[in-house]
Amino acid sequence: MLNMTTGLTIWCSEAVTLATVLLLAWRHDRKSPFYLIWALGFAVSAVGFALVAARGILPDIWSIQIGNAVALLGESAWIIGFRFMDKRRLEWSAFLPPAIWLIGVSLPWVTGNFVHRVIVYDLAGAVGATLLAFAVQPGDGRREPARAQLGIIFVALACFCFGSALWMAFMAPRLEQAMIYRGYMALGYALLVIVAIVLNGKLLMERAERRWRAISITDTLTGVLNRRGLQESYEILVGEGPQKPQKLAALLFDLDHFKKINDHYGHQAGDTVLVEFARIARQFVPRSGAFGRMGGEEFVAFVPINEQSQAEALAETIRADFCRVPLLAGRSLVPATVSIGVAIMPRDAVSWDRLVSFADRALYAAKRAGRNCTIVFNEMETAKDVDPTPVADEGELVPTLDDQIHALRRMGTLARM
Ligand code: GH3
Ligand code: MG
Ligand code: MG
Repeated sequence: MLNMTTGLTIWCSEAVTLATVLLLAWRHDRKSPFYLIWALGFAVSAVGFALVAARGILPDIWSIQIGNAVALLGESAWIIGFRFMDKRRLEWSAFLPPAIWLIGVSLPWVTGNFVHRVIVYDLAGAVGATLLAFAVQPGDGRREPARAQLGIIFVALACFCFGSALWMAFMAPRLEQAMIYRGYMALGYALLVIVAIVLNGKLLMERAERRWRAISITDTLTGVLNRRGLQESYEILVGEGPQKPQKLAALLFDLDHFKKINDHYGHQAGDTVLVEFARIARQFVPRSGAFGRMGGEEFVAFVPINEQSQAEALAETIRADFCRVPLLAGRSLVPATVSIGVAIMPRDAVSWDRLVSFADRALYAAKRAGRNCTIVFNEMETAKDVDPTPVADEGELVPTLDDQIHALRRMGTLARM
């Protein structure tokens, strides 16, 4: 028959194994301190149960008061680990389980009575499991199936502990009977914790998968979407329901004379300009759209629109904000501008290749029109008049005559809007 010492010894060896596995996981991924905290939790729990199992060998204060408090401290560490995993603040409520035990066991009618001590311990364990169920729920409302399953297991653990406390209170078993019951209780607790560990492994795998996916669609320098991310977002925008705007606009951005910026101020200053442009543009692109880096000094925004003027206004806002003041890169003030080509197509007839190639043609026209301006694809008729032969001062960061004419024409267009 299973008695308390056997049950505690089984749980103790299981906790040591889990602590070792988690410690190895932490050595492998030191950026995730929650592995270390959970490892400490299981190690502490193993020490606590070993102290409790050594009853009769050690003085009672070590095996009863301290041993059980240390075992419950393990639960506190698991709670703290979950909060660390979600980068949430540490809350002192995590230490409630050992605190409840220490307060309860100091009461005279609890200290000397095994059944009463079991009731207090189970109540402390139930509070710990409830706190675990709360700690595992995401603060930002993110839905992850493994979190919900873990929450259910912790609620089951809380019910298990609470049920055990009630059973002890109502049945008031004899000491030998209560000791046997404790053995089964420790085993049941250990089984539920194993299920929780498996689900936790699933949760961590899902998190790692999401992290790698985010990395695979993010541009490392600027933090905006990379080409792959843009293609995925484009597919989503095109596939959205019929209630969305009927047109999709592509705004293709190309920083002007970027090679000169690199040559003049250094590659690092060039990088700062790219980061700054991405920051500025991203804040203006609506959440219903997508913005990212196509490569080099080229960026694109896809925006669902109803009117051409919406795309034009967005492009002009970004262009004007970017060239408003020189950017501070290291100790240099770097003047930088951007040219923008805009193309618009109905959503039901749009294709990536055509939309981007039309925007590219408009961008080319914007470069020829003197840079630091926006050209919409169907506006290109007017831009076609511009002499296609390169001008003598091409490469200078000064407005050309064409540039000024274009700026006046654009001001007239915007004033009519
Ligand atoms: P234009 O006004 O006609 O667009 O001229 P441009 O100099 O901007 O265009 P060009 O294509 O000649 O030069 C692009 C430069 O962008 C060349 C390349 O070294 C630089 N570049 C591409 N990627 C990066 C990057 O990640 N960081 C930095 N600093 N420079 C980059
Ligand atoms: Mg370019
Ligand atoms: Mg360029």
